Amino acid sequence: MENVRLSPLISEREIRTRVQKMGETITDKFKGQDLAVIGVLKGSFLFYADLVRAIDTDLTCDFMGVSSYSEMTSTGEVKINLDLSRSIRDRNVVVVEDIVDTGLTMNYLRRHLMAHKPKNLMTVSLLMKPDALKEKCEVDLVGFKIPNDFVVGYGLDYQGYFRNLPYIAQVSNIN
Ligand code: 5GP
Repeated sequence: MENVRLSPLISEREIRTRVQKMGETITDKFKGQDLAVIGVLKGSFLFYADLVRAIDTDLTCDFMGVSSYSEMTSTGEVKINLDLSRSIRDRNVVVVEDIVDTGLTMNYLRRHLMAHKPKNLMTVSLLMKPDALKEKCEVDLVGFKIPNDFVVGYGLDYQGYFRNLPYIAQVSNIN
């Protein structure tokens, strides 16, 4: 893509090691129990695919689609484009996000999912930008805390591109 510079931030190897460890943490919490793992599309699709393979207990996979971003900034308004395909009532639920930025989406998802009365809800995000939070947002399991810069790769996009990068990179526009 023209006029865009990528600076690698988290390598493929670092991601692999951390995601494996996150899978072990989730396994320790839910081993022997039934689990519903919900991926938040589209950004979490690669993380989700690697994470579920690192979890060793019986689980079902489901997806939600939400949008709150336009280009490189949050609109502050969360919309659901795709909702759950089966009930999570009385089930252990893990919700899997790509990144927590302002915290609006994760807080919205938590409220939305809690309204479905799960037995237990664990929130997981690969990335978090603590300096970008606009409201208090507690996430149960975070892969990496990163600076307040726009990032792409490993599922995350800029204008629909770069989701296929196997690593995470910071993006800057060059004009
Ligand atoms: P929040 O509601 O926490 O502000 O934003 C969450 C959503 O914004 C993420 O799921 C992701 O889709 C998008 N987002 C936030 N920061 C970034 C970023 O640095 N890069 C990309 N590609 N998306 C981001």
